[in-house]
Amino acid sequence: MTSAVSNSPSVMNRICPCCGQMRMYEKNAENARSRYVSAYICVQCGVLEALIGDLRPWVGGAN
Ligand SMILES: [Zn+2]
Repeated sequence: MTSAVSNSPSVMNRICPCCGQMRMYEKNAENARSRYVSAYICVQCGVLEALIGDLRPWVGGAN
């Protein structure tokens, strides 16, 4: 038996400032951090940044 300290599944309930989609996890530790802006973005945008580079202008808002 594993101890159920934090066993609740991750929920995407926040809007990514980059893509504007509700793809951000509740906890920032589970999201990606932009390489270009001091902000957290969704994992998919984090991958895109790694592949493509700066994704700005962000459709989701900031920058
Ligand atoms: Zn995103």
